[in-house]
Amino acid sequence: MVDLPSIREVIVTRTQSAQGKTWKFRYYMKNTEKTNYVQFKQLKGRLLTQNADLKRTGIFAWTLPANWVSLPGADGVRFNVCPNAGVCASFCYAKTGTFMFSNVRTAHLSKLLLVLNHREQWKNMMVDELSLPKYHGKHVRIHDAGDFFDRGYAMDWLYIMGSAPLVRFYAYTKEVAMMKELTAEGHIPSNFTVIFSFGGKQDHMIDKHVDRHSDVFTDYDKMIEAGYVDIAADDKLAAIHPNHRVGLYRNNIPHLIKKQAQRTFGAWQREADNVKQNTNEHRTQEASNA
Ligand code: SF4
Repeated sequence: MVDLPSIREVIVTRTQSAQGKTWKFRYYMKNTEKTNYVQFKQLKGRLLTQNADLKRTGIFAWTLPANWVSLPGADGVRFNVCPNAGVCASFCYAKTGTFMFSNVRTAHLSKLLLVLNHREQWKNMMVDELSLPKYHGKHVRIHDAGDFFDRGYAMDWLYIMGSAPLVRFYAYTKEVAMMKELTAEGHIPSNFTVIFSFGGKQDHMIDKHVDRHSDVFTDYDKMIEAGYVDIAADDKLAAIHPNHRVGLYRNNIPHLIKKQAQRTFGAWQREADNVKQNTNEHRTQEASNA
C-alpha cells in the first residue's frame, strides 16, 4: 500500500527540465463515498498559463475556478472564489466553453487547493516562477477567472508583485472596497493596475470619472459612443490604455447574449440593486404595518 498523504494534501515537487525549471505538483483527494483514495490528479507545468490570444499579445494568466466551487474531500463544503460577483455570475464566461473541460477545471481547482491549503508554498512557487527572465517586461493577468476572495490572499499577491518589479500585473476585480482600502493604505505597488469590473455587488463604489473600470456591452457602437475603448485585440490595453474606460464587447454565447439583452453589466446590476432595494423597503413596510 502506498503511503498516501492526508486528505487534500498537495505534494509539491520541483524538477529540472531540459529547458530549465518546471513545477510539478500533485494532489490527492479522498472520495468520501468509497472511503478510499481513488482520485489522483496531477498538474504539470508552470502556474501561469497562456492561451493562443494571450500568447500572441505577450500576456500570462493566473486562473482560479469561477464563483462557487465544491471543495473535494471536504464533505461538500463550498467555497466562493468571487464573493462580490453580482449579475456577472449569471453571465460568467468562465462557466462556459473550454473553462468547462474536465482537464481545465481540474487544473483550476488544483490551483485553488494549493492556495487554500498550502499558502506559503504557493507564494514561494509564484515568486520563484516570476523570477524567470521569460516574464521580465511581460504582463500577468491575475484571475482569468476568480477574484481576490479575501484580504489575506490579496496581500499575498501584493507581496508576490513586490518580488517581481520587472513584471507588470493587472486584474479585473469586483472587490472594489478592498482594493480602494489597500490603495489608501499604500499597499498597491507601481507594477500593478487594478480595473474595477462592473456587474458586482460593489458597483456603486466605482467612480466612472476617476477609476479605471470595465463594462460589458452588447452594442459595439454604443460602447464606443459612451467613450469606452475596445480592447478585444489586446487584453493588456485594459491596464495600459490612456482611456480608463475599458469596453468589453459581448462574448459569442447566444443564450447569454439574449439574457443580457441591450444592457451593460453596470446597467443590469443597477436594475438588480433597485429590485432588491424595493423588495427590502416593501418588506420593511409590511412588517411595520403588521
Ligand atoms: S467575477 Fe468574473 S469569474 Fe467571478 S463570477 Fe463574475 S464574471 Fe465569473
